[in-house]
Amino acid sequence: MTSLDVRLLPIFDDNYVFFITRPESKTCVVVDPGDAAPVQDYLEKHGLTLQAILLTHHHNDHIGGALELKQRWNVPVYAPLKNQAQIPFATDYLSEGQRVSLLDGQFNLEVLELPGHTLGHIAFFERERKWLFSGDILFGLGCGRLFEGTFEQGFETMQRVKALPDETLVYCTHEYTEANLRFCKRLPAFADLKSYEDTLVSKRRAGQPSVPLKLDTEKAVNPFLLAADVERFTELRKLRNQA
Ligand SMILES: [Zn+2]
Repeated sequence: MTSLDVRLLPIFDDNYVFFITRPESKTCVVVDPGDAAPVQDYLEKHGLTLQAILLTHHHNDHIGGALELKQRWNVPVYAPLKNQAQIPFATDYLSEGQRVSLLDGQFNLEVLELPGHTLGHIAFFERERKWLFSGDILFGLGCGRLFEGTFEQGFETMQRVKALPDETLVYCTHEYTEANLRFCKRLPAFADLKSYEDTLVSKRRAGQPSVPLKLDTEKAVNPFLLAADVERFTELRKLRNQA
């Protein structure tokens, strides 16, 4: 397996843009570039050649820089089929089960349709390395707000994420973990958060992101993944919306 790494670039207040890079060829793929300028600066600073852009859903803080980068680099843009109207400049529209092979065949993705936050939301799963690029589906101790989908769809999406391998690393787009921890601590005790909190505090104090999340840890403590049925999921999501 050729070595690839994932680098995080913070933009806006709490977004991350991910660069999947192949160091030996200095090529990369970018996920959810909400702003073109910081991404372009990063590419230049590190001497990277952009080969493709991946978009998880149509919100502007995820796609805002994609058109400018596409034009500058002349690269394909992969976007959800159901967001064709909102992302007309994409070159390839994807739906459940499709595969994408990038970085000279070294970076192979499966597309998962995970509706809830938006109806067309997709995630990209690298099964060999067990990396999930999940946009706004799941966060540390939280899940994406349901702007378009129903509670049933949100719950089903959590079940699909839960079914992924325990070793999966979740590259979610926002640094919401601390805010979600504060919410979780107000819930009647449902899981022991002590070691989660210790790890989080030491990472954040050192200026490090809480992302990627370890899916096995989230399966043990994330209330939205632990919700046993759609009623419980709905109750939690409503509480979180008010927090
Ligand atoms: Zn979003």
